[in-house]
Amino acid sequence: MIPDNNTSTLPGLYIHVPFCVTKCPYCNFYSVTDRSAIPSWINALRREMNWYKGEFEHFDTVYLGGGTPSVLSPNELAAVLDGAYEAFTISGDCEVTIEANPGDIDEDFLSVLRDTPVNRVNLGVQSFDDTVLAYLGRRHDSEDCRTSINLLRNSGYDNIGLDLIYAVPGQSMKSWKVTLEEALRWKPEHLSCYELTLETGTPMGRRFADGDVELPGEDERYDFFMTTSERLEKDGYIHYEVSNFARREMFRSRHNMKYWNHVTYLGLGPSAHSFSGNRRWWNHASLERYISDLEQNRRPVEETEILTDRDLRLERVFLGLRTIEGISSSDPVLLEPPGSDILRQCLADGLLERRAGRIVPTRRGLALADQLAVLL
Ligand code: SF4
Repeated sequence: MIPDNNTSTLPGLYIHVPFCVTKCPYCNFYSVTDRSAIPSWINALRREMNWYKGEFEHFDTVYLGGGTPSVLSPNELAAVLDGAYEAFTISGDCEVTIEANPGDIDEDFLSVLRDTPVNRVNLGVQSFDDTVLAYLGRRHDSEDCRTSINLLRNSGYDNIGLDLIYAVPGQSMKSWKVTLEEALRWKPEHLSCYELTLETGTPMGRRFADGDVELPGEDERYDFFMTTSERLEKDGYIHYEVSNFARREMFRSRHNMKYWNHVTYLGLGPSAHSFSGNRRWWNHASLERYISDLEQNRRPVEETEILTDRDLRLERVFLGLRTIEGISSSDPVLLEPPGSDILRQCLADGLLERRAGRIVPTRRGLALADQLAVLL
C-alpha cells in the first residue's frame, strides 16, 4: 500500500536511454546523436538486466530517462519495457515514467505508448518562450509543447510532469512568469523547475568559462526561485523538494523520492548510477564501452564507492534538508559540531524551522539548500 505522499521503500529501476536527436549546448547528461547503435544497446541492456536478476527482484518504480527515451521506435520501446518486466518482478501499481521531448509526441507515438505500462509522462518543455527555447538549442518550440500536452490529455494521460528551466542568460523575470502562468493553465500533475547550471564539459559551459556567456547574478537567481515557489504554492502545488512541485501529494515523483530518501535504486545503461545499502556504483559513460563490456560478459561498471556510516549520515541530512520532510529533531548530526553549529545558525537565520519533531527547510532554506550541503 503506497502512502498518501507516494513514498515507498521498495527499490526503483532507472533505465538510461543514451540517445538524442541533437545535443543541447548546456546539457551534461550522457547521450549520443548517432542512433544506429540502438539495437546493440537494447541487447546489452537486456544482458545487464540479467546480471541483476536475483540481486534486485522487486521494483515499484521504473523510470526511462536520458537522453531522450521518446526517440525510441515503438518496437524498441516495447523491447526495453518487456525486458524489464521479464527480468524483474514489477509491482502492479508501479509508477512507470517516460521522459519525452515535446516534438516527439504524436498520434503514432501515443498509440504505442498506450499499450505499454507507462502511466506517467515527463515532458521536457523547458519554456513556453520561443526565444528561450532557441537560446537553449532545443529542437522543439512552444507550439510543439502545447500540441503534446493536448495529445497526452486527449489520450487519457492523467499524470503529466513538465520540466522547466529558469535563470537562462538574457531571460527576464517577465518571460519566466509568462512560462509559469502558461504551465499552470495546463494544470500538470507535477512541475520540475530547474535553475540553469553550466558544467565546464558542455559547449555553453565553455563559453561561460571564457566569459562569453553571463548567468544571472545570485540575487536574480534567488528571485527566480522565490517567485516560482510562491506562485506555484499559490495555485496549490506542494513544493516538496528544492526543484519539484506536485499538484497533490499522490503526484509526487515516487521514483525521484527514492534518491532523496536513500532508498535502493538500480540504474541500467551507460552512465547510470545505482545505490544499495552503503554501496554506490556507476556505469561507464560510453556507449561503446557499455556494449562491449556486456558482449564480453563483464559488468559495465566504472567505479564502486563504499559509504561509511558518517558519509551515509551526512548524505541523509543533506538530502533530507532538500525536502519538506526535513530531518528528525533527534538526528545525531544535531549533537556534535560542525553539523550542530551550522544547523543552529540556520534555525536562527530562518532557513530551517522546527515542526512536529522534525527540522524542515523554510522556503528560503530550500533556495539555499545547495550552499547548506557545502557547509555540512
Ligand atoms: S537536454 Fe535532453 S534532449 Fe537535450 S541533449 Fe540533454 S538529454 Fe538530450
